[in-house]
Amino acid sequence: MDYKCIIVGGGIAGLQAAIQLGRYMHQVLVIDSEDGRSSICHSYHNILGYPDGVSGQFLREIGKKHAEKLGIEFLTDKVETVKKADEGFYLETARGSTFSTKRVLLATGVMDRIPPFPELRPCLGISVYVCPDCDGYEVKDKKTIIIGSGRTGVGMTKTLSYWTKELVYINHEQEPIKESDQQWLRDHRVEYIESPIEKVLATDSRFEGILLKSGEKIIGQRGFVAFGGNEVRSQLAKQLGVELLENKHMLVDPRSKMTNVPGVWAAGDVVAHSEQVTIAMGEGSQAAIWIHKDILNDEL
Ligand SMILES: Cc1cc2nc3c(=O)[nH]c(=O)nc-3n(C[C@H](O)[C@H](O)[C@H](O)COP(=O)(O)OP(=O)(O)OC[C@H]3O[C@@H](n4cnc5c(N)ncnc54)[C@H](O)[C@@H]3O)c2cc1C
Repeated sequence: MDYKCIIVGGGIAGLQAAIQLGRYMHQVLVIDSEDGRSSICHSYHNILGYPDGVSGQFLREIGKKHAEKLGIEFLTDKVETVKKADEGFYLETARGSTFSTKRVLLATGVMDRIPPFPELRPCLGISVYVCPDCDGYEVKDKKTIIIGSGRTGVGMTKTLSYWTKELVYINHEQEPIKESDQQWLRDHRVEYIESPIEKVLATDSRFEGILLKSGEKIIGQRGFVAFGGNEVRSQLAKQLGVELLENKHMLVDPRSKMTNVPGVWAAGDVVAHSEQVTIAMGEGSQAAIWIHKDILNDEL
């Protein structure tokens, strides 16, 4: 079956686009591998309508149900290949399914480099964070431990000093930092520890501190992860020849969200912007409106 549009990525941007395209009654498929940021964040705190926070999982579930009610189809799989075809695009998934479509919306997101301490996962979005614009407010006047690497961790420490003066920076990977940064940490009374972590201390979703490999315990109320090297999931865009920035985020037309490749749109964190839920929603919606215009142009 030829879909009017295939949305790759059923996170926040992809779901919002699916709902909008469903309301135009177009035949649309969402292919999603269910391993994005919205699957791991247990609470968003800065979303209009949710003053007490809302989980990514909840938004994903209600978003999918909403889109399905409008006739949108879903497939759990990972798109491995996308190619230009005679009229549109040809997609192939990891499980061997193939699809043709005239339009593709890439909403594949970004994935943070989160160290593999199992106790960290339940805390994400509740007492351990990744994004200061989203969650800096959550550490206000709280003892906060930055778990990170090299200068990325220093940058996060500087940013968070706006909200709290009680900061500890654990340079887990012991990547060297500049003398001027070390001086900054001393001047601002930040405890700086260059030592590997053995274990994250937490009770359920409540972060309590860090046990270092040396056996020393560092107690804290909140955690922030800052390793750098996040994965920008623009590999499919690259296959299609979409223009990427040096940091691998995609460039789109600010109005229509279409890329430089006709028939390919992009929305959400994979596009160059400040990586927020509300922006991902807005972009998903906007891309869908322009995809609809393109379908109408084709058919009327
Ligand atoms: C711990 C944490 C806390 C956060 N807190 C906040 C907050 O408080 N406020 C806020 O605004 N934002 C917050 N964010 C950021 C927010 O989660 C993202 O901005 C949002 O999820 C972006 O939506 P998206 O649709 O672009 O990407 P995602 O939600 O990551 O969705 C992308 C989807 O694409 C799928 N995918 C990727 N590649 C493929 C492929 N090849 N084939 C098929 N599917 C694919 C993935 O499985 C995923 O489901 C936080 C993020 C994290 C990790």
